Amino acid sequence: MPSLTGQVALVTGASRGIGAALAVELARRGAQCVLVARTQGGLEETDDAIRAAGGLPATLLPLDLQKRAQDIDMLGPSIVARFGRLDILVHAAGVLPKLTPVAHIQPRDMEESLAVNFSAAWRLIRTCDPPLRAAPAGRAVVLTDAVAEAPAAYWGLYGAAKAGMDHLVRCWAAEVATTPLRVNLADPGPVATGLRANAFPGQDPARLARPEDVAPALADLCEASEARHGATIRVAAQAAR
Ligand code: NAP
Repeated sequence: MPSLTGQVALVTGASRGIGAALAVELARRGAQCVLVARTQGGLEETDDAIRAAGGLPATLLPLDLQKRAQDIDMLGPSIVARFGRLDILVHAAGVLPKLTPVAHIQPRDMEESLAVNFSAAWRLIRTCDPPLRAAPAGRAVVLTDAVAEAPAAYWGLYGAAKAGMDHLVRCWAAEVATTPLRVNLADPGPVATGLRANAFPGQDPARLARPEDVAPALADLCEASEARHGATIRVAAQAAR
């Protein structure tokens, strides 16, 4: 029996990139996935890939984590009402509006970065904490970036929000340390996605890891056997299965 059979996973950023590949991997391992992103077509493509991999049909929740932030608050209770449990939270949604000097950051770009890269994590923790604590082996994986711990010129818009998110996640991990819930940050390293192409338009994506190359190691963090907690895990890419 696949290792995550019977478990329910909420995955944000599931319309493309790393979140989509990770959702497919979790479904391949037997999880019932609830997929969140803005783009309905992208969510449907991920669901198609899940079905092709032999997974259970996913539940699609088109949601803008910035413009409909308050709707995040209903995710935990709605999932419990529908499935009776929530075992896994993956927060892979992220946005890199642009690389720019701190002195040139525009208010609307900062609002977007703070909403998606920081506040969404807070709201997800708020709504998912009760069912994740109640799960036999609750697991939360939040996607971060090395730049959060290594400030670099022009990366402040994205990196400061990620650094704040990381702090929040580590505090949450400390708060649930005595429960079965394991909470970790994961840095996937350079991966060929839309976000990466925005940051490095001249970089050849063929020389980078693909989302499906990092998905198995990220999915391992969602397994009941994962004992690490409150850590920032630098994920090593491996050839896709
Ligand atoms: P990506 O391909 O650009 O995907 C980003 C995902 O976030 C998409 O599914 C997008 O869906 C969703 N998203 C963005 N804004 C949203 C919003 N307002 N509401 C709801 N969903 C939203 O990026 P990725 O490279 O896979 O990144 C995944 C995570 O890994 C991010 O947290 C990123 O910071 C992190 N990371 C990536 C790299 C890398 O090299 N790729 C390196 C380090 C860390 P919609 O557009 O459909 O809403």
